[in-house]
Amino acid sequence: MNPSERPVVIGGGAAGLAACLTLEKAGFSPLLLEGADRLGGRLRTDQLPDGTPVDVGFQVLLTAYPELQRWVDLEVLDSVAFVPGAMIHKGGRWRTLADPRRMPASIGATLCSGIGTWRDRIGILRLVQQSMRGTPESLLDAADEVSTSEFLAARGFSAAFVRDFLRPFFSGIFLDAALSPPAAQFLYTLRMMATGKVIIPVGGMAALVGALEGRLRTTEVRLGAEVQYVQEHALRLADGTEMKTGAIIDTVPRTEGIPWNACFNAVFHCEAPPFGQPIIGLLPEARHVTNLHFMEDVEPSGGKGKLNVTALLRDAQGVEAASMESAVREDLLQVGVDVGPLMWSVTIPRALPRMHSVCSSMRNPRIGSGMYVAGDHTAAPSLDAALRSGRVAAEALIVDSGRAKANG
Ligand SMILES: Cc1cc2nc3c(=O)[nH]c(=O)nc-3n(C[C@H](O)[C@H](O)[C@H](O)COP(=O)(O)OP(=O)(O)OC[C@H]3O[C@@H](n4cnc5c(N)ncnc54)[C@H](O)[C@@H]3O)c2cc1C
Repeated sequence: MNPSERPVVIGGGAAGLAACLTLEKAGFSPLLLEGADRLGGRLRTDQLPDGTPVDVGFQVLLTAYPELQRWVDLEVLDSVAFVPGAMIHKGGRWRTLADPRRMPASIGATLCSGIGTWRDRIGILRLVQQSMRGTPESLLDAADEVSTSEFLAARGFSAAFVRDFLRPFFSGIFLDAALSPPAAQFLYTLRMMATGKVIIPVGGMAALVGALEGRLRTTEVRLGAEVQYVQEHALRLADGTEMKTGAIIDTVPRTEGIPWNACFNAVFHCEAPPFGQPIIGLLPEARHVTNLHFMEDVEPSGGKGKLNVTALLRDAQGVEAASMESAVREDLLQVGVDVGPLMWSVTIPRALPRMHSVCSSMRNPRIGSGMYVAGDHTAAPSLDAALRSGRVAAEALIVDSGRAKANG
């Protein structure tokens, strides 16, 4: 193919990878330009000093994500599933709250947890039912832009249940303490959780990136290729290289105006006994920490004596890792967890785009002649949305190019 006809995908995160895979299916051999020295974008795994893998920002996969199922054989991806529920630290002790439909053995502990009233529990089951109506995509495309927080308040949940469970649980997912994401995103996430498992790949998110990357056949990947300037059918790299191109799918959030939710993630040495099963711990009474998990519960050998903690940052500007470390230590001490030395930490100022409306993918990814956009910032703040946006942009390109529509 003439290089000036070859489609170019900018950014090798989830959206860019899904775009390339979709283009390949339609017979294209795209060029993928990635500014960093690795693919994956925000799906990134680092190593603790002893070699244990740790994701750069704790994140999970929901096996019900339709786009994940499209590209990854979840039967083959080696993973660990979290228990559907949470351990909640309240009033000086850990309490269990589990999904009674899938964890019948935990019904007793859940009923005795003191978290939520009967009305709250029935309310959750009703919400799950509501989230099952229509297709998953139709939930995201709902025009209603009420925030999750307003939506929950209108549903009559007790203030204590919102404070002790709903807010810490979902603020950990959205990385947004105010639960400002639209209710559509909340219902979508609820449906994904109710119909599938919450897993993390063994080896971290790098294993997922490897699974996606491993499917690329005809894409030419160029790492360290930072795109500085883009226009229709042409671009310039940071090293000054000018390129005439075919259509371009840009997955890089270029709008400076996009607000981001930020987080701090750390791993501490910790001698406290783990929960004994892979489950998320929530600290509703803490100031900064939103969730934690004992790494040993997830990976018995490498995770021994390690606590993985996520805290939300209201404003990532000027946040010192050292000050976050002491804030997190203080929070943990208050719940009786005395952690040892810090092993690893990261501050992520641009973790998830803060969006007041979402859609299953950007309604129209075309932004000019032969120019398309994708990325979670164009659709909804999740991996599923990032993958879908990449596919939808590629499908638009394929249709516009006159080639047969990508099959599936
Ligand atoms: C801490 C954290 C927790 C999360 N938790 C979850 C979760 O539990 N569940 C979930 O579904 N989602 C979660 N997410 C969100 C999910 O990881 C993202 O939605 C998804 O990875 C975004 O993919 P993307 O391709 O849109 O963007 P990115 O991953 O940001 O990809 C953009 C790519 O473009 C490259 N790039 C940037 N500028 C240039 C340039 N000028 N030239 C060339 N390349 C460039 C970047 O290096 C990057 O590789 C989480 C994210 C974070 C950070």
